[in-house]
Amino acid sequence: MAASPRIDAKMAGRGLSRRQALTAVAALPAAALAAGAGAPAARAQAAPAGDAAAARFGLGGFSVTSLLAGTRILENPHGTFGTDVAPEAFAAAAEAAFLPVAASRNFFTPVLVETGSESVLFDTGLDADGLGAALALAGVAPEAVTLVVLSHMHGDHIGGLTGAGGAAFLPNARYATGRVEFDHWAAQANEGFEAKVRPLAERMTFLEDGDQVLPGITALAAAGHTPGHMIFHLEDAGRRLMLTADTANHYVFSLAHPDWEVRFDADKAAAAATRRRVFDQIAAERIPFVGYHMPFPGLGYVEPQGEGFRFVPHSYQLTL
Ligand SMILES: [Zn+2]
Repeated sequence: MAASPRIDAKMAGRGLSRRQALTAVAALPAAALAAGAGAPAARAQAAPAGDAAAARFGLGGFSVTSLLAGTRILENPHGTFGTDVAPEAFAAAAEAAFLPVAASRNFFTPVLVETGSESVLFDTGLDADGLGAALALAGVAPEAVTLVVLSHMHGDHIGGLTGAGGAAFLPNARYATGRVEFDHWAAQANEGFEAKVRPLAERMTFLEDGDQVLPGITALAAAGHTPGHMIFHLEDAGRRLMLTADTANHYVFSLAHPDWEVRFDADKAAAAATRRRVFDQIAAERIPFVGYHMPFPGLGYVEPQGEGFRFVPHSYQLTL
């Protein structure tokens, strides 16, 4: 079933409605994999360049591609996830999921949705290099992206908006983001926002809860992680997918323990309530979702389990 990314891209261009295999072109470097079990000094380093991948699947007539724009090793994940629970509780959760306690891997996964008339990119990774590498593996030129949708404005989501010299990396795109989110950061004198987002404001559409981004793509308010954080519901020909962005930032520490406090959540109680609400719906309606920080390709399902949810990784459901 493996095919070159070039062939996959041609398939997508010829007929988006055809059934498409989930094709992954991963280049997880041996050094990064070794670092997980290696010396602490090595673990502190970011994964080397080349840590990119693309996985394409069909959703009705849409072609959806998870783009791995980079990964990072996070030392001491308990300093980020479950900051309000005892070390023993964190260690028990990690052990139950066969995960180490001392480090975790964070994935950065923009999603490209090709509708047939538009190429829509949801979030942009840490930087243009990482995004560009993943787009190249998908066979998509930056010039081909027609719309960029931002879930929120943390650096790991807006980093790829501009490349060298501050030029727009996706030169032909227009932009859309939540009005609440934009207004929040516009009032902060935030360095990343000023460098990456404000220069694009004239080409930006501002979304409210329930707004249609394009036919079949709906923006939904999911505040807590940031004040105007939004998620996106996709539906075409009866097939549905939720892009949950940073509603949950780890497939175990956030999903199995949705009430745990997370360092990066601006309003921790609101973030926890949103996690429960969103994943309750995803579980009840059995909708597949892509989580921006889930293990690549970030695609799966959840079912209620214990005090939270069990992540069920996608295998082949969306390739048939
Ligand atoms: Zn993030």
